[in-house]
Amino acid sequence: MTLTPDFIAAQKAKLEAEKVRLDKEIDSVDEYPEMGDSSDDNAQEVDALSDNQAMEEPLVAELAHVNQALAAIESNQYGVCTECGQEISQDRLIAYPGATLCQDCAH
Ligand SMILES: [Zn+2]
Repeated sequence: MTLTPDFIAAQKAKLEAEKVRLDKEIDSVDEYPEMGDSSDDNAQEVDALSDNQAMEEPLVAELAHVNQALAAIESNQYGVCTECGQEISQDRLIAYPGATLCQDCAH
């Protein structure tokens, strides 16, 4: 199975829209200006900001996947499992454009 350029372009558009959405959501959660951007800085503040962190963490993780997928598109590796190197099924990519693992490796 080879992904067509049209399919990849459509996935890229979805990922970029998703990135904008996640950036906005993270901004709206990030109401504390003293909170650093790096996870090292944040580690010290996890207790105080646990509620905030709990809301932000899945968003940050999702954004990381989206960025990873966009980077994969740039390097022509999109749709290839980063774990085993097998192609990720097109159905899975449609359901989850940010997928960087195949069905087997994701479980
Ligand atoms: Zn895999």
